Amino acid sequence: MTYKYVVAKPSLTGRELEYVTDGIKDGWISSKGPHVTGFERAFADYNGVAHGVSCSSGTTALMLALRALGIGPGDEVIVPEFTMVATAWAVTYVGATPVFVDCRDDLNIDTGAIEAKITPRTKVIMPVHIYGRRCDMDGVLRLAYEYNLRVVEDSAEAHGVRPVGDIACFSLYGNKIITSGEGGICLTDDQRLADQLVHLRSMGFSHNHDFIHRKLAYSARMTDMQAAVAQAQVEQLDDFLAERREIERRYNEGLADVDGITVLPPRDVLWVYDLLAERRDELHDHLARAGVETRRFFRPMSQQPGYLDPVWPTLNATRLADQGLYLPVYIGLTASDQDYVIGKVREFYGS
Ligand SMILES: *Cc1c(COP(=O)(O)O)cnc(C)c1O
Repeated sequence: MTYKYVVAKPSLTGRELEYVTDGIKDGWISSKGPHVTGFERAFADYNGVAHGVSCSSGTTALMLALRALGIGPGDEVIVPEFTMVATAWAVTYVGATPVFVDCRDDLNIDTGAIEAKITPRTKVIMPVHIYGRRCDMDGVLRLAYEYNLRVVEDSAEAHGVRPVGDIACFSLYGNKIITSGEGGICLTDDQRLADQLVHLRSMGFSHNHDFIHRKLAYSARMTDMQAAVAQAQVEQLDDFLAERREIERRYNEGLADVDGITVLPPRDVLWVYDLLAERRDELHDHLARAGVETRRFFRPMSQQPGYLDPVWPTLNATRLADQGLYLPVYIGLTASDQDYVIGKVREFYGS
């Protein structure tokens, strides 16, 4: 099926091609090239954080962050029910156990429900700024302080939300707010953690080239070609966020009064335009026939085969996931494109 309006696509009209071309002309295409440090510096500075360590994906960033904090078998990590499976998998990859907490009506982790899930084995809280809404970080940090836990933020969908945890992990996958095709980055103010992350992403090579690998590490670097694209994207991030804010405003305006649609609370940064819809699956098909690609929400973690828990049908996350849909959002989506999409939604509900 080819759509007139896809749900997401990258915008690559800044200096992406110039930076990639420079790298290829100079022969710097591996992870040793100048754009890797260029991107890391630019993104860390943008966020007001001391260190940036890039890697091969957002999922890898989460896994490296947990390893850098020394998390492993026997440890428990608090993870939201409503997230992309990568958050939970990162915990499983390091041999620890994810412990799931249900969400509020804004889809973010219910910080009031975390305390009941903390045990002597709990080591980390992993909040996710889902769909670009910053979660209650005051609540997370208060609990982390009280119970001596570390905080790893899954910021994969929230470029532009300032990190406050021990490590914040971003994805640069093709549908994210900024992209390098595939890629990820960890931000931290802690020099020691940054050193660990560098060590872990790069096979644990030692500085003196003795080829003694002191702990199990990974081959998880970002190439200079990816970093060249990422660096050019960071330069445009403020413009992207402003254009996305305008897209959000226009959808809100066009959909607020539609009987059958529940407009969700504002986002801190617009990644996707999420909403709740009556007869959601029929709306999805109606829009698809009109050439508009949409996506249903993530399914709760307790419904995933790897984490199956019979509580899942009772969760707030399930109730919201059953009704959730998100609409096309990308740089270059015009007001008239949005009018078309909004018109097709209104047509479906006869409003
Ligand atoms: C995209 C995403 C990830 C994973 O990022 P990849 O770069 O695709 O590995 C992790 N968590 C959330 C919430 C995401 O949306």
